[in-house]
Amino acid sequence: MIDTHAHLDMPEFDNDRNELVSEMKRHGILSAIIPGIAADKWQKQLELAEQYQWYFALGIHPWYVPDDIDRAISLLDAKLQECRENRRLVAVGECGLDKLHHWSDKQLLLLEKQLQLAQTYQLPVILHAVKAHQELLALLTRTRLSRGGVIHGFYGNSQTAKQYIALGFKLGVGGLLLNPSAKKLRQAVTELPIEHFLLETDSPSMSPFDQPKSRNTPLTLNRIVSEISFLKKSETVCILEQLNKNAVQLFEL
Ligand SMILES: [Zn+2]
Repeated sequence: MIDTHAHLDMPEFDNDRNELVSEMKRHGILSAIIPGIAADKWQKQLELAEQYQWYFALGIHPWYVPDDIDRAISLLDAKLQECRENRRLVAVGECGLDKLHHWSDKQLLLLEKQLQLAQTYQLPVILHAVKAHQELLALLTRTRLSRGGVIHGFYGNSQTAKQYIALGFKLGVGGLLLNPSAKKLRQAVTELPIEHFLLETDSPSMSPFDQPKSRNTPLTLNRIVSEISFLKKSETVCILEQLNKNAVQLFEL
């Protein structure tokens, strides 16, 4: 298994990262993709990815819109250029739109420029989308990225999911699926082919509904896979095999 979205570089993991990695291995979770959120955190991601043989993405999260967007984008451009030959660099992101946090037109501008970089460097993009599917779909329709990407932590109905799929995007499914009240998501996973989904936790965020106070870790993946198997009435091993294939294919791992 690979966790396609885990912020394992965050300080929440500084005290027990080695132990967690051993525990992950015991549960068959062999790697992770560490998404980028801000320029001052890229270097730590790179070092940890090297140390633990993880993958990483470089980008600027919509909660961290910088004052000087042009300068931040040229820093990102330079970092992408520097890491061009690094096989652990697999995507641009995490970038996107979030209407519940610091929403302004600057998020749109920052995202648009990151999509252009994804196209320039021929990388897929890891997108964060909260209450902004219409704006995001409009932008992606205009931009048409040749490597596509993933709508991470997807929460929407089958109709919205199909629009993203038509634009070449996969849908990242995490701990939210375990919540019986996440009806739209559970229905989308039940209805749409497994080829369109990726497995993720968004650790340390998005703890399962029944452990709201605890730190989320990639170990939650086992529960998510079981739930997908249950919803799709299919063997866990088949589901797992296809989900791995999806990640390998999108990110060229
Ligand atoms: Zn994230």
